[in-house]
Amino acid sequence: MPGGAPRFAVPGRIAVSEQAESVWRTATLTEIRPETPHAATFRLAVPGWAGHLPGQHLMLRLTAEDGYTAQRHYSIASAPDGSGHIELTLDRVPDGEVSGWFHTVARPGDTFEVRGPLSGFFAWPGDRPALLLGAGSGVVPLMSMIRHHRARGLDVPLRMLVSARGPGELIYSAELGAETTPVFTRSAPTGTPVGRMTAAHLAPLMAERPPGGWEAYVCGSNGFAEHVSRLLVRAGQPVDRIRIERFG
Ligand SMILES: Cc1cc2nc3c(=O)[nH]c(=O)nc-3n(C[C@H](O)[C@H](O)[C@H](O)COP(=O)(O)OP(=O)(O)OC[C@H]3O[C@@H](n4cnc5c(N)ncnc54)[C@H](O)[C@@H]3O)c2cc1C
Repeated sequence: MPGGAPRFAVPGRIAVSEQAESVWRTATLTEIRPETPHAATFRLAVPGWAGHLPGQHLMLRLTAEDGYTAQRHYSIASAPDGSGHIELTLDRVPDGEVSGWFHTVARPGDTFEVRGPLSGFFAWPGDRPALLLGAGSGVVPLMSMIRHHRARGLDVPLRMLVSARGPGELIYSAELGAETTPVFTRSAPTGTPVGRMTAAHLAPLMAERPPGGWEAYVCGSNGFAEHVSRLLVRAGQPVDRIRIERFG
C-alpha cells in the first residue's frame, strides 16, 4: 500500500463496491469515541450481521470512487449482543492508509464494507477459564471477552494482563476492573514499576490454578506474542492451550 495522505479523502463518499461478493455487508458508521490520544472506537450499524463470538475479527474494505480498494483485518471490540451494531477500536498507525482514513476523515453516516466474523480459533465463548494477555491495540478482542463475561454474568475465571506505554495510552482504561492488571512500559503513576511484562506479573495468575486450567489468549505485535508465549511456557502453560492473534 502506498504511504502518505489517506487516499480515501472524501467524507461520506466511500462507495460500496458493486462487485462485492454476497458475504460483504454494508456498514454505516454511527459513532466515534476517542479512547486515547492515538486510538478511537468506531461504532457500526451492520444490517444482517450474523453475530460473532468474543475474540473474532472481521475484514473491512474501503472502496474509493475510482474503484481502488484497501482491506484490513480488525478485531471486534464489542460483546455479541444481537443489536445489529458492532464496535471496532483502531490505533492510528503513522502514515496508515486505512487507520488514517478512520482517524482523520471518517464521519458518522459514512459507509464501507465488512465481512465476517472470522477466526474461530481465537474465539472465547465463555466456557472455560481464560487468561488474557494483550499489548496496545491487542487489548481489543480481549475487551470483547471481558464485556461478554460481564454482560452474561459469567462466573468462569477471567483475568487480563495488559501492557501499554503509560496510563494515557491504556485503551478502555475507565472500563477495566479487578480482572485486569496493567503493565506500563514507559511511564507509570508514582510507585508503579515501569518495564516489560515479566514472569513476576504472570506468577500470581498462574498460581490461581482454576479448575481445568487456563486457556491463554495472547494478542499484540509479533514481538509481544513471542515474548509472552515464552513466559507462559516457562510458567508451565501447555503450548496447545496458548492461542495467539498477531497484529503485526
Ligand atoms: C487479525 C487482526 C486483527 C487486527 N485488529 C486490529 C484492531 O482491533 N485494531 C487495530 O488498530 N489494528 C488491528 N489490526 C491491524 C490492522 O489490520 C492494520 O494493520 C492497521 O490498522 C494498519 O493499517 P493501515 O492501513 O492504517 O496502515 P498501512 O497503510 O497498512 O501501513 C502504514 C505503515 O505502518 C506500518 N504498520 C502497519 N501496521 C502497523 C502496526 N499495527 N503497528 C505499527 N506499524 C504498522 C506499515 O509497515 C507501513 O509502513 C489487526 C490485524 C490483524 C491481522
